Amino acid sequence: MSSARVTTTNAGIPVASDDHSLTAGPNGPILLQDHYLIEKNAQFNRERVPERVVHAKGGGAFGFFETTEDVSQYTKAALFQPGVKTETLVRFSSVAGELGSPDTWRDPRGTAIKFYTTEGNYDLVGNNTPIFFIRDAIKFPDFIRSQKRRADNHLRDHDMQWDFWTNCPESAHQVTWLMGDRGIPRTWRHMNMYGSHTFLWTNAKGEKFWVKYHFKTDQGHEFLTQAEADRLAGEDADYHIRDLWTAIKNGEHPSWTLYVQVMPFEEAADYRFNPFDLTKVWPHGDYPLIKVGRFVLNRNPENYFAQIEQAAFEPSNMVPGIGPSPDKMLQGRLFSYPDAHRYRIGTNYMDLPVNRPIVPVNSYSKDGAMRYSFGIGDPVYAPNSYGGPHGDASYGGDEAATGIEQEVIRSAYRKHAEDDDFTQAGTLVRKVFSDEERERFIDNVAGHLSKGVSKPVLEKAFEYWRNVDKATGDKIAEKVQAKVG
Ligand code: NDP
Repeated sequence: MSSARVTTTNAGIPVASDDHSLTAGPNGPILLQDHYLIEKNAQFNRERVPERVVHAKGGGAFGFFETTEDVSQYTKAALFQPGVKTETLVRFSSVAGELGSPDTWRDPRGTAIKFYTTEGNYDLVGNNTPIFFIRDAIKFPDFIRSQKRRADNHLRDHDMQWDFWTNCPESAHQVTWLMGDRGIPRTWRHMNMYGSHTFLWTNAKGEKFWVKYHFKTDQGHEFLTQAEADRLAGEDADYHIRDLWTAIKNGEHPSWTLYVQVMPFEEAADYRFNPFDLTKVWPHGDYPLIKVGRFVLNRNPENYFAQIEQAAFEPSNMVPGIGPSPDKMLQGRLFSYPDAHRYRIGTNYMDLPVNRPIVPVNSYSKDGAMRYSFGIGDPVYAPNSYGGPHGDASYGGDEAATGIEQEVIRSAYRKHAEDDDFTQAGTLVRKVFSDEERERFIDNVAGHLSKGVSKPVLEKAFEYWRNVDKATGDKIAEKVQAKVG
């Protein structure tokens, strides 16, 4: 049989047949010496890496970020200097569903961005919401388990979702946001992206600022109603992946404008609420948006598994001029992301092309499963007398000392005057939602609460919503009672 390209084994050896295994006679048993058959099936059995425990279902694309404004007074980071253009990768995802779950379930969307900068990879692992359900990483595994599946019947369960939320009133702002129109974006192109956490920026003079990132969609906000989302979940479970892929393929390159809110370093200590609390936004009236640049997606992946499934984002990848804040959720994520990648794709996940920085890697990391780059070679230790790389103190200083208590404690944040769980959720319901959106929000919450939530948890949920907004809570209770009695 002639063919332009002959099938080969993984070792490049030409293969005689794609159709027939090697047997003892036409009906005989298969021979162990058919090493190609064995390789093919053994490889197939190993095609999957473990799916992400959160953010399993997603899609992504490549593009660029261009700094169009001058924010050098706030950060010395090379990628944010005027005119600098940086290659990027983004992965969008839902949070609680598994790999095959419908894209249109009501859920926040992950927006993980990798900037391939001249100072190493910078990862901004955000969401399409500026806030989160909890403010301390110690609750994260509990939160995710309550949103995924029960131990006994492997079903998702609204009772455990609401049981967790109502036992953690700090969730109220994020749950309000989730049940509003933005809780199901029409497409990934029609939603904002946020860094969500507070980060530290340092300028060339060593001055420090707290920042929050907002990527505003240039396509405009569009959402799906619950009914549209339910229909699409059945008709096209991959609706969001398909939309992004098709838009880019057709030359419709989605873009976002990046703004930051900047808080002078010293203001954090006495701000009216804790500025490192991930359940809160900084009101724009206090810290207005400052434009930074433009983020564009213009290239689809060539291989989903190699470039999206194996893409590894970690909030700990911060370049000079950018550092962490004392946000307890961020601090937890600095550990858990690289740890998850080591488990999921192996210790040398940074060697994979999609995760590799564009700059030379002078790390003393060495060996390990699937290592194929040679590393820096000898000497394999530091300090050494043979000219190996060494750390440079001028790259330090992006760590923030403020917020670090001298005392070792387990408690909520140090109190600020206006720390509470319900005020900003109430503002969202009363001032940001239009009358029509508030009605849809009430219907969304009532519909969700009417599916399998036990009486005691329902009572707690009504109280939770009355704490957000009395009139809204009363309406929710009325609607649920009309449905479930
Ligand atoms: P502003 O009026 O200055 O900002 C309101 C914000 O709400 C805008 O960023 C807008 O985003 C966003 N928004 C509009 N509609 C919705 C919706 N349906 N669901 C979620 N967000 C929406 O007020 P404040 O800064 O004082 O914030 C008031 C409330 O707005 C907060 O309590 C918070 O719930 C919400 N919010 C605030 C943000 C912030 O960083 N300050 C960011 C996002 C929400 P856009 O301009 O893109 O339409």
